[in-house]
Amino acid sequence: MARMAWFKKERKPRTAERAKLEIPADAWEKCDECGHIDIKDRFVRALNVCPNCGHHRRINAQEYIDLLVDEGSWHELDGTLRSADPLNFESYRDRLEAAVRKAGPLEALRSGYARLDGMAIDLAVMDFSFMGGSMGSVVGEKLARLTRRSVEKRIGLVVVSASGGARMQEGVLSLMQMAKTSVEVARLRAARVPFISILTNPTTGGVSASYAMQGDVILAEPGAVIGFAGPRVIKQTIGQDLPEGFQTAEFLLEHGMVDAVVPRDGRIPARARDGGRRGAAERAAGHHRSSAAAHGRPATGGGRRLTRVGLSFEDACRFLFARQGSRIKWSLGPTDGLLDVLGHPERHFPCVHVAGTNGKGSTCAFTAAALAARGFRVGVYTSPHLVSVRERVVVDGVPISEDAFAEWASVLEPHIERLGASFFEATTAIAFADLAARGVDIAVIEVGLGGRLDSTNVITPLVAVVTKIAREHTDYLGFDLASIAREKAGIAKPDVPFVTGERDPEVRRVLVAEAERRGAKPVVLVDTERPPTRPLGLQGRHQWANAWVSLAALNALPPPFGPLGGVGGVGGVGGGDEWPESFSRTYLPGRFDVRGKWIFDVAHNPDGARVLADALRDYAPPRPRQALVGVLGDKDYLGMIQTLAEVTDGFVFTVPASAPEHRRWDLDALKAELTGPAGGFGPGRPPDVRFEPDFERALQCVQEGAATVMVTGSFHTVGDALARLPGFAPVG
Ligand SMILES: [Zn+2]
Repeated sequence: MARMAWFKKERKPRTAERAKLEIPADAWEKCDECGHIDIKDRFVRALNVCPNCGHHRRINAQEYIDLLVDEGSWHELDGTLRSADPLNFESYRDRLEAAVRKAGPLEALRSGYARLDGMAIDLAVMDFSFMGGSMGSVVGEKLARLTRRSVEKRIGLVVVSASGGARMQEGVLSLMQMAKTSVEVARLRAARVPFISILTNPTTGGVSASYAMQGDVILAEPGAVIGFAGPRVIKQTIGQDLPEGFQTAEFLLEHGMVDAVVPRDGRIPARARDGGRRGAAERAAGHHRSSAAAHGRPATGGGRRLTRVGLSFEDACRFLFARQGSRIKWSLGPTDGLLDVLGHPERHFPCVHVAGTNGKGSTCAFTAAALAARGFRVGVYTSPHLVSVRERVVVDGVPISEDAFAEWASVLEPHIERLGASFFEATTAIAFADLAARGVDIAVIEVGLGGRLDSTNVITPLVAVVTKIAREHTDYLGFDLASIAREKAGIAKPDVPFVTGERDPEVRRVLVAEAERRGAKPVVLVDTERPPTRPLGLQGRHQWANAWVSLAALNALPPPFGPLGGVGGVGGVGGGDEWPESFSRTYLPGRFDVRGKWIFDVAHNPDGARVLADALRDYAPPRPRQALVGVLGDKDYLGMIQTLAEVTDGFVFTVPASAPEHRRWDLDALKAELTGPAGGFGPGRPPDVRFEPDFERALQCVQEGAATVMVTGSFHTVGDALARLPGFAPVG
């Protein structure tokens, strides 16, 4: 089976540790048409229609019965009829026994009666998994008996076909079934009893040449192959090339052989809906169900028929954001539990893991750009986001779709509640699922907070990176730099290279000791003070260090992803000591992001403010410069403001609307602090200072008289500004 093949396929270089992990093979499946990989449950909920390309996967008779009839209304007829072996055909009995074992039912056609939204129907469904749905004497007899029942009881007949043709093991007896069933079906018409024929992939040979094409209404599933002989045989016979799409449902619709092509979920394309036999086609496809529901009957009969349950994107966001205040748990348990539900998607792609106080996002961006430039399909998981949560999960520059995000959230919703998972834990699970589903070759994963106990630390990467350490989130991680460093080095893994750009000897010593204690090998200390080797796409000299760290990480990767040094200039890739060309095309919204007179930068701590101030000195935008600043209350904002005051002519302090209530800073307190003993602005003319709690008004007034407008502070501040300025939002 395709999904087994996928799980057997070696998708990445594995470390010894990863190879030992159990992968639940039945949790994921692959679309044979487009290669899309998805959690099995999602295929099932989409009625086995590929969520990516719409390919209708083959399902068996029981699944069609469940799909079509009201729950509990199915009564099977002639379920014990079995084929004999009238011709003593070699090994036919063995084949039949094997087919029964494999498919379950005793023959390739199941017949019975049921209710469809309360209406009585006779129903026959062919099962392709039983000897290719071939028609022998039992298939013919069962269908003939059911047809006679339909005439007698004046009940409409529905037949779902899936067949390779007549059954060769019964020779001419099989061929006779074509005549027999055709005659029986003709009697339906004489009795004015409707016959709806549904053609699924494939409907060929003797079945297509008899009753299947005799329906009063003929419906087909998208992409189904329908015809007598295969295209290859026809081509050989007539010696001509066949038109494109020949023998597909769509081709037959175009040529009047089929009344409508109806996707399995019942949504009829507009063209078919406006077609000639509108009423019948709509009825058959279930479009009257909503009116049935209005009259008190259930809108869906079968257990999982036509139900696209789940949250909308907006609901998914509301559900997840409400969990943002969750207490930080000192355990990887909830993340692991969610990934367990999903079949551990994070084990299906290799990755680079990046921690650090500042420069994580930029290092991820450089690394992803270099890998993409080498032709890999690269996924990136970062946080936080500026405007939309979709920014956090990106594959080849394309953010996760609203549908995918909502569907993963729906799959996980009960488990998120059961496990008490936080927003970040849930988003991490969704991200890993989406990256696996989109078939990335490699992913770059940014740590959310800290390292050792961060949700993302369930992965075994190809290389672990700690950019550099600064004091942050002191409530959570312990006050001194040494314990912060130990926490971040907690992403080090046995026999996995560990790369750091930390320059402070004392902090570096702690990082190295912890990484070695955890078995990391080799430990790479990056000289980040070397001069640049080419201009970078990300502005500011602080990016040089991030570029060097990223290059070292790339060089620590095993083939085929790295090292860069071995490739020596091929395809724009530089040598091992030079930044690749892709670094100069790297872009990251909100990081010294210059757009006209606007500069956006998420400098959310004093270290970030210092690099922003340095970048502004280098870039020297025109004065007067006004800064719109909004910071979260748990940050060292006084230090930040004092640093920025050196390069700014005026401040407007505000509160972004998207900042969570409990983390907002207090503008009144800030006013008092700025005028207090610790709040001075140092030598020189003090900047003009305004306080405007209303974000919209603040965004207006910061522009007044400014030649340059800087927007800085938290992701909320930069994101809220980008969202309000036309054309600036990173995700539409
Ligand atoms: Zn597909």
